[in-house]
Amino acid sequence: MTPPLPPGSTIGILGGGQLGRMSALAAARLGYRCHVYAPEAGSPGMQVAAAATVAPYEDEAALARFAAAVDVVTFEFENVPAATLAALAPLAPCRPGVEVLRICQDRLAEKAFLERAGVPVAPWRAVEDEAGLAVAIAEIGLPAVLKTTRLGYDGRGQAVIRRPEDAAAAFTRLAPKPLILEAFVPFVAEVSAIAARGEDGATAVYDAVENRHRDHILDLSFAPARLPAAEAARGHALRVAESLGLVGVLALELFVLPDGRLLGNEIAPRPHNSGHWTMDGCAASQFEQHVRAVAGLPLAPAARHHDVVMKNLVGPEGLSLWPGLLRNPEVVPHWYGKSEARPGRKLGHANRLLALGSLSTLEDAAALKGL
Ligand code: AMP
Repeated sequence: MTPPLPPGSTIGILGGGQLGRMSALAAARLGYRCHVYAPEAGSPGMQVAAAATVAPYEDEAALARFAAAVDVVTFEFENVPAATLAALAPLAPCRPGVEVLRICQDRLAEKAFLERAGVPVAPWRAVEDEAGLAVAIAEIGLPAVLKTTRLGYDGRGQAVIRRPEDAAAAFTRLAPKPLILEAFVPFVAEVSAIAARGEDGATAVYDAVENRHRDHILDLSFAPARLPAAEAARGHALRVAESLGLVGVLALELFVLPDGRLLGNEIAPRPHNSGHWTMDGCAASQFEQHVRAVAGLPLAPAARHHDVVMKNLVGPEGLSLWPGLLRNPEVVPHWYGKSEARPGRKLGHANRLLALGSLSTLEDAAALKGL
């Protein structure tokens, strides 16, 4: 085990988005500097970081300079090329490591891993070509969801196949290949849980939340989830963190079936949008927990001191909600400093704080008042 990084050390973050920004803010509170590496100048993360490198992820010279300037490397989104982390690994400690990244950026590896870790998943098949798709459809049945195995997010890179004659068009449209076919899950709710694991193997897991989406983008998280399956979801997230040997935080997204059973969907090996409620509902947020893990510090408790409804502020509607949210004393607002309010872009979020234990007594309309 390596000793904890002393205050004043520098955490390198690959990726310039809001997750890196909020990690950098949490790191600053613990006395660390952050150095953000991303291809785009002026990104949300860079605005609050002590140092920045603007370079492509494939720029080996820039990566070597970055590694020399930081004490540890982490990433804030899992579409950073695995080759980038592999190039950095001999030069600086990388947490989480490249194997975790490889598993989580490939849906086929991820599904196989979830099964090995004991998390049930919907039936799935790898699909290399159209003939393989026909076989997979015969085995799994319809409806089914065809997805790219890489680089998909917020519902991009997938198609629901309802009739056999829809298969060819879906196969042609989706790229890059190979693809994965999953049985369509008739879920009644989507839940997720954030788990952290430290260098010392200690773990912490936040309460599971219920997530609602709009246009395939997360809209609301209800913390805690008002579902009997919530405890099992936490257990699964913890098991995944332990099985991965993770150092950092992860989110495990799961479907809840009508009979209450859970099926794992995705692992995000980083702070996650569905964990933003922890910023105001817990003493230590998912971002602080991530920084603690990456810096080799002890983890903090993941206990909840408030119930929270998290509302994502997505462009351009999010911009119009902002002034009202600032006037609402029950709401803690967060804004990411993005340069444009393009449709579908996450601009910020708002956490509505509710007394501990009160969310389960509220109808949705009351829980969402003012959001
Ligand atoms: P993903 O990119 O895998 O997180 O999927 C985005 C969204 O598509 C999920 O949040 C679900 O609402 C829906 N979805 C994904 N996979 C399935 C599935 N196998 N069955 C039904 N809905 C799905």
